[in-house]
Amino acid sequence: MCSAACPRVGLEIGSLRRKEEYVPFKIIASQCTSCSACEPLCPNVAISEKGGNFVIEAAKCSECVGHFDEPQCAAACPVDNTCVVDRALPRYQAPV
Ligand code: SF4
Ligand code: SF4
Repeated sequence: MCSAACPRVGLEIGSLRRKEEYVPFKIIASQCTSCSACEPLCPNVAISEKGGNFVIEAAKCSECVGHFDEPQCAAACPVDNTCVVDRALPRYQAPV
């Protein structure tokens, strides 16, 4: 097993740390009606249309922390449970 000094382990740990900084909502594509209501509300410009589908760029999503009390995409979306936390990734941690 590699030690902490192993460059590869360091790279992997670095990647995990970066992920913890950006925790994303995601859009369930099969439920999204492409109404575009969410797109202009994102304070981080994380939502965009790609080929007719609206997607959230995970690296830009901060769950609206520091901007709004609730995630704006989820609040605005007319389809329940379509803008949801991506549970495959860690929750956003606001800088201290
Ligand atoms: S939760 Fe907030 S920051 Fe994340 S995509 Fe939705 S509107 Fe943007
Ligand atoms: S508000 Fe909801 S249904 Fe409309 S584009 Fe965004 S995710 Fe899709």
